[in-house]
Amino acid sequence: MNMLNNTQVAIVTGASRGIGAAIAQRLAKDGFAVAINYASSSAEADALVAGLKAAGAKAIAVKADVSNADDVRRMFESTEQQLGKVDVLVNNAGVLKTVPLADTSDALYDQTFDINVRGTFNTLREAATRMNDGGRIVNFSSTTLALNLPGYAIYNATKAAVEAFTHVFAKELRGRNITVNAVAPGPIATSLFLDGKTEEQIQAFAKMPPLQRLGQPDDIASVVAFLAGADAGWLNGQILRANGGLA
Ligand code: NAP
Repeated sequence: MNMLNNTQVAIVTGASRGIGAAIAQRLAKDGFAVAINYASSSAEADALVAGLKAAGAKAIAVKADVSNADDVRRMFESTEQQLGKVDVLVNNAGVLKTVPLADTSDALYDQTFDINVRGTFNTLREAATRMNDGGRIVNFSSTTLALNLPGYAIYNATKAAVEAFTHVFAKELRGRNITVNAVAPGPIATSLFLDGKTEEQIQAFAKMPPLQRLGQPDDIASVVAFLAGADAGWLNGQILRANGGLA
């Protein structure tokens, strides 16, 4: 717990929209002071902060490209200055473009690895020295890793790397009482999933889980809130496949 202001502090990367925005709202509701990171969607991030503040929460928007180590250092610094030392880090920022491996450009490969893998690496490295003991780290994998669908080779490779980070980093933080887990959502109705798909394709994905619907951002925010909260203290180094039973 942060001794400066008696409020636990959470950074949520990629929180301007989609799953990250739902996580920021949920953690704020649960009493965390929240740093809402974004790369380019400043209007959305500012609107989210304004809404949270109006509801009585502490929140700031922090522009930082997670793939840039200097940006990530500054994100931690400005969070510490404005809210206090960090207790919870949610590595939600990520990108997906489904392209067959043979058609993937060098630029798309680099962008996907830079944001999904290097971005997570950059924040974990800062977290190692900056987070309060007793903190929680939640990384983001994907259920696509278990499905092996065509078009997902590069994206899945980045999420496999994130799962590897999760298992090893949990052990490297021995003695700090910081847990490191990952959530691996199934299809969630955000622009990352919906953009570029036909209605037919969307419905096909929606029918895949036995619960027979797409996940919503709040479905994942609840899982992250659990991992960040008091009841998940004994869960460490685990991947939670939050996907309605899809895989
Ligand atoms: P989304 O709606 O596309 O939102 C992505 C968020 O990441 C945005 O806030 C975006 O902010 C931010 N972002 C992108 N690049 C960034 C960068 N370089 N630095 C900082 N922030 C950056 O995506 P989503 O569906 O919420 O996905 C969130 C996470 O869940 C991702 O890790 C994704 O891989 C994972 N996931 C999603 C699904 C799904 O079906 N939606 C399934 C499994 C896993 P800006 O707009 O400011 O760039």
